[in-house]
Amino acid sequence: MPVDIAANIAVIRERIAAACACAGRDPASVTLMAVSKFQPPESVSAALDAGITCFGESRVQEAKTKIPLCPGRARWQMIGHLQSNKCRDAVALFGMIQSVDSLALAQELNKQCEKAAKTLPILLEVNVAGEASKFGYAPARVLAEFAELSRLPRLEVHGLMTIAPYSPVPERVRPVFRRLRDLRAECEQILGAPLPQLSMGMSGDYEIAIEEGSTLVRIGTALFGERPKRTAEAAGE
Ligand SMILES: *Cc1c(COP(=O)(O)O)cnc(C)c1O
Repeated sequence: MPVDIAANIAVIRERIAAACACAGRDPASVTLMAVSKFQPPESVSAALDAGITCFGESRVQEAKTKIPLCPGRARWQMIGHLQSNKCRDAVALFGMIQSVDSLALAQELNKQCEKAAKTLPILLEVNVAGEASKFGYAPARVLAEFAELSRLPRLEVHGLMTIAPYSPVPERVRPVFRRLRDLRAECEQILGAPLPQLSMGMSGDYEIAIEEGSTLVRIGTALFGERPKRTAEAAGE
């Protein structure tokens, strides 16, 4: 049976609304991002037709070939690890980079934005659980570098992002989401201004993330179905 993307989106929206009701939040305060990595342009079009406008990609090369094949009203954000030599392309392709994980990378993005005469919203990716297999700032380091990051003239830090460890019991990762929210509060103290975005929650754990304050959930599998397997493995996912 082909995947019914519109039906999946309807289910996810209902579950987002239920989690928001639980937490006393307005469902409009949570953006549903469709994570379209490894998915073809036809799937992006189907999600657009079902009302999604925000799409996440994890590799610059894939985005570079896919984005021109998708309807122009799609909005794209980078959610995967970014290498310095891809910053120029990334600045041209994406409206936001969620995966900034070092000052050096931020400085390179700032430089490319300057050349392109652009300002770029970013999120700082935090490896809250300290998993060796994942990218992202250590919590102490994001606090140490935050002041300097926030002064880069071409970048606007909008908040934090995290990928929680996988658990068959999503409740177990609640402390990770809570920690990211607390870290945001500490960054806000340093900045002396609010940081609107907390990007947290994926297919397996988005309801818990919403209860803990997520403003953007990044959903791939629950929305598009399983990612095409061989491609995913070849990319070292
Ligand atoms: C792949 C990916 C997702 C989506 O994961 P699902 O479990 O398929 O929903 C979310 N965030 C990031 C950073 C990813 O790389």
